[in-house]
Amino acid sequence: MQDTPQVTELLKRGIAAAKAGRKEEARQALLQVIELDERNEQAWLWLSGVIDSVEDRRVCLDNVLAINPDNPYAQQGLRHLDRQAAAVPASAESCPRCKSPVPSSGKTCPNCGQVLIVACPSCGAYVEVEHVVCPDCGQFLGDFRDGAHYYLVLAQAYLDKQQFALAQETIALAEAEAPDDPQVLQAVAALHEKMSHTDMAVATYRRAIERYPEQSIYYARLGAIYRRRAMIEDARAMYEQAVKLDSNTPTTLLELAELYVEDGLMEKARGLLERAILIDPEYAKAHLLASEVYRRLGEDRLAVKHYRRAAELAGPESVVSRQAYRELAKLQPTLPERHTQGWGETLRRTSALMLPQILAAWVNASLVPWEISPAVLAALVLATTGAYLWACAADVPRNQAMRALFGETGVEGFWRKALVGIPGVLLWSAGFGLILGKI
Ligand SMILES: [Zn+2]
Ligand SMILES: [Zn+2]
Repeated sequence: MQDTPQVTELLKRGIAAAKAGRKEEARQALLQVIELDERNEQAWLWLSGVIDSVEDRRVCLDNVLAINPDNPYAQQGLRHLDRQAAAVPASAESCPRCKSPVPSSGKTCPNCGQVLIVACPSCGAYVEVEHVVCPDCGQFLGDFRDGAHYYLVLAQAYLDKQQFALAQETIALAEAEAPDDPQVLQAVAALHEKMSHTDMAVATYRRAIERYPEQSIYYARLGAIYRRRAMIEDARAMYEQAVKLDSNTPTTLLELAELYVEDGLMEKARGLLERAILIDPEYAKAHLLASEVYRRLGEDRLAVKHYRRAAELAGPESVVSRQAYRELAKLQPTLPERHTQGWGETLRRTSALMLPQILAAWVNASLVPWEISPAVLAALVLATTGAYLWACAADVPRNQAMRALFGETGVEGFWRKALVGIPGVLLWSAGFGLILGKI
């Protein structure tokens, strides 16, 4: 199409305005040119420079190339837009870490290896590494200056979004940032484990052990992996080394004890479990396994005690407490707790203790019940109180009253038994003495 004088004039005005930075004026003029001549190469090219929307700019440049495929400015402009879409900022001309110049299309700094762009785990946009928050979606990304920790957090975020390739890449970056930090090594290996990259986890733990052969946790984790892989001998060797280096971590003690139990080494398991419970008396799983060990060692009384403790600690709905109750039911098959420790049993035991006293009082009253004197009745009340306490200390230590008084375990241990039992026996004897003395 021929350039009319009007088109030429408008184009001149538009270009002048664009060069002077008067974008709105330039836009108006150039759009008028295009209305008159939609195949005006110059108008599309200059228009692309004065509009803000990336999409519109791309349309302009595409139109230029449709008119003239060899237009170098349009080609360059589109390349620039492509790079922007990949979020390699044309403005970021120096590495944020070492400040050396970087090519605008680079993903990492050629000088120091610093990553320059990261993918947002939430929206997938490529974001300059300097952004603490994704500018597109607001996802928190962290501060790259934190080094390994930054990549660990990012890797976990990828993992949460099932972006395994990105997670993998980022885990490697984390280790590269701090290959000598024992905690980073552990976190890196743990992430490999989470991704089911067991071989990589094993390799990382092995590298970690080479650097820090005194760190118990690495051996324990390797032990856990070998155990899952049914490499029992290796698992045991690792756990034994872990316990040798640190015998104060209850979970490690428990895990080795589990291996011993599987192999029938009850005495060895017992030692570990008793130590685990000593360190953490509220470790329900240790109590549960300990009770199994005691049961298999024939120590039912201890077994029952620890099953109860396990159930109590784990809470009524837990798997541990259910298992504990099943085992308890096996150990005490005929008498459930509410029968052995209920009111009926308490009454029965108390009455049994009172039988000789009632007989004595009855005989003293010449077998005529209403001849029993008020003093003897008072002695009987005294003796009954004593008998009740005696029964609580000796036979029904976990009846309702004693549990209300002492908690779930009831009258347990020497001091509690003495506290309840001694006054009980004394009152019972005093009452008996008074009745026999024919008061
Ligand atoms: Zn750099
Ligand atoms: Zn985002």
